[in-house]
Amino acid sequence: MSRFIATSAIRGAHGVVEQAEKLYKEALTTLGPDKPVAFPNTTYFLPVIYTFTGHKVQKIADLEKPLHLARSLLAPIPDEHLWLPYLGGALDAGAATLFAEEIIEGIRFAKGEQPEVRNGFKYNGPIDDVQMRAWGIQMVDGRMPGFAAVVGAAKSNEVAVKIVRELQSKGQLVFLSSMSNGRSIVDQLLESGVDLGYDTFTVPFGSDTISTVYALGYASRAAISFGNVAPGDFRKILLYNKFRCFAFALALGPMDDLKWATGAGAINYGFPAVCDTIVPNVLPTGVTKYEHVVSMPFDDIPGRDDLERAERLVQRCIEVRGIKVKTAKVNIPVAFGPAFEGEVVRRDNLRIEFGGKGGMCFELLRMKDLDAVEDGKITVIGKDMDEFPVAAKVPLAILVDVAGRKMQKDFEPVLERQFHHFLNNAEGIQHQGQRDITWIRIHKNAVDKGFRLKHFGEILRTTLMNDFGSIVDKVQVILITEPEQVKKLIEEARAIYNERNIRIAGLTDDAVDTFYSCSLCQSFAPNHICVINPERVGLCGAYNWLDCRASYEIKPSGPNQPVPKGALVDATKGEWEGVNKFVYEHSNMAINRFTLYSIMDSPMTTCGCCECIMVIIPEANGFMIVSRDDYGMTPSGMAFTTMMSTAGGGMQTPGMMGHGKYFITSKRFISAEGGIKRIVWMSKNLKEELADELKEVCTNAGDPDLLDKIADGSTVTTVDQLLAFLQEKGHPALAMDPVM
Ligand code: SF4
Ligand code: ZN
Repeated sequence: MSRFIATSAIRGAHGVVEQAEKLYKEALTTLGPDKPVAFPNTTYFLPVIYTFTGHKVQKIADLEKPLHLARSLLAPIPDEHLWLPYLGGALDAGAATLFAEEIIEGIRFAKGEQPEVRNGFKYNGPIDDVQMRAWGIQMVDGRMPGFAAVVGAAKSNEVAVKIVRELQSKGQLVFLSSMSNGRSIVDQLLESGVDLGYDTFTVPFGSDTISTVYALGYASRAAISFGNVAPGDFRKILLYNKFRCFAFALALGPMDDLKWATGAGAINYGFPAVCDTIVPNVLPTGVTKYEHVVSMPFDDIPGRDDLERAERLVQRCIEVRGIKVKTAKVNIPVAFGPAFEGEVVRRDNLRIEFGGKGGMCFELLRMKDLDAVEDGKITVIGKDMDEFPVAAKVPLAILVDVAGRKMQKDFEPVLERQFHHFLNNAEGIQHQGQRDITWIRIHKNAVDKGFRLKHFGEILRTTLMNDFGSIVDKVQVILITEPEQVKKLIEEARAIYNERNIRIAGLTDDAVDTFYSCSLCQSFAPNHICVINPERVGLCGAYNWLDCRASYEIKPSGPNQPVPKGALVDATKGEWEGVNKFVYEHSNMAINRFTLYSIMDSPMTTCGCCECIMVIIPEANGFMIVSRDDYGMTPSGMAFTTMMSTAGGGMQTPGMMGHGKYFITSKRFISAEGGIKRIVWMSKNLKEELADELKEVCTNAGDPDLLDKIADGSTVTTVDQLLAFLQEKGHPALAMDPVM
């Protein structure tokens, strides 16, 4: 490392450790040693300290230990003229800096000074666990390659906006912190009317450099939560991040000692830094995969104007980190990229919506003969987006006809399911649901920029050809807003959906000799493998057996592989030799048995993106199910996120299991333990969402009123309340065989 940078980093570390020591001493007297210290909504304490050392900071006095550690990591500040051949001193100083920064933020929380409020704007502070996991899924399946920590302020507001948009179109989450010359990129974005927050994939941490530590806390928690790394195993955490989390820092404006010190902390994780000013380049030495520090003085970047320079700067960041971005160039007037997935269009910004409550909108993909499809043809029938009043709720039919020599009817739903990702990737377009419960909301800015119905067609054609070129040769799209026509067509579509349902509903585990695997989540949870049988969807809810089979045919080397059942071991628990063998070979030999119908004996593992978690309540002789959307407390004494930290990461935990929500309606749902009659508590939103299906399941189980005997979070959040509720309702689980 250049001696200049190493000297600055070590000097910066000394400064921030002293600041932390001073704050700690003050806090001991003003707040007292027992005053609680915690970041909001996390079970990982102060996450960098916890993940590096295993030390749980819960009150002021707990800060003493990491503070000592930080101090002990500090080398003397080297002479400016001394040649430093090794990174060691600076890297240790970097770790000390992160500890000190977390200690400072911890004390600020204890004092009620965090998250920061500045000029009337409330910063986000650290990312909470729920959000961390939600983004984890997108990182797992490759939609979102990583994150960019943008530190400082850009040359102009225009450049700031361009940089953020470019990062988003490359699928990067954008974290914002620090200042340069008294300006912060957060100010620049706010002045330019850019919405910041989780919804838009931009997280303003704080206006000082210290808040940058929240980015490393996020990376550390991801390693523990998805990589099955134990707290304290800092080597594995750093390795995990180096190889699996594609993050980097983009430093805008002049550097100072603290920025260098924090940067040295990030280099420990293998995260390189790109600076838009003149700084010494630090070339690869093995800690990061690529360069550690790259200088790209903004005004020297070749380009016609600043916007083009901004684009190249981001391009360079992506190269330095070795990120492969696979987004299609789509010819539409708004930005397009995975970062816009999950973007929310709020009522104030709504220009028009299709479907949703009381509305009518559906999407249908149909296979046609080659000569019945005119490739690239996009037809719009009825009025266009800009011709309706503001915030109108309008019916819409999206009909996509595809043809291809290798296309099959079974692939239709697999391709149709992709519409959600495809359309959501457009800036200002929010897409939810599928089939005839599709709901699309369009931001007024998108329509102002010229986005129209035909652009749905552009997106769908380009992305289908791009991602499924091996089976799709031609695509044509028809978009209809004319109400009478939509009304007629939606009935035809429903008949087709129904046929598809019947096909999977009619399929049983016994009727097939092959199940399918899904290994998509191994990029984040290396020992996790899903086995998907006809009567059980994948735990993320996104893949059923037919989809996996189709996906295998589309891409035989892909993530869905056939799992021959082999000899039956136990019919009640759903255990087969072939499944066990497959699981052993594909879990890095971590798991040697899987039962498909039991939660108590070798249940399936959980990666991190399950729709629900089920857990035993021994006192009630049954199980409870909490859904991912339920943030409340449950009778197990844990909320969803806490349970996830026990169940996730590819571990096998008898009595605890992640699963897809529709699995609850399956005949095979924990049939070894007695099925639905064992469920004593369920998140309210699940009960409501699946009401019709669940009623049918309860009736089939011989207890039509069972659903009312199952408690939920609106009345029951503790075991005592639960037991009283079950007694009063006469829940069948109380009289069943002991579950343990
Ligand atoms: Fe991940 Fe399993 Fe869903 Fe595949 S089926 S994406 S492995 S959770
Ligand atoms: Zn997963």
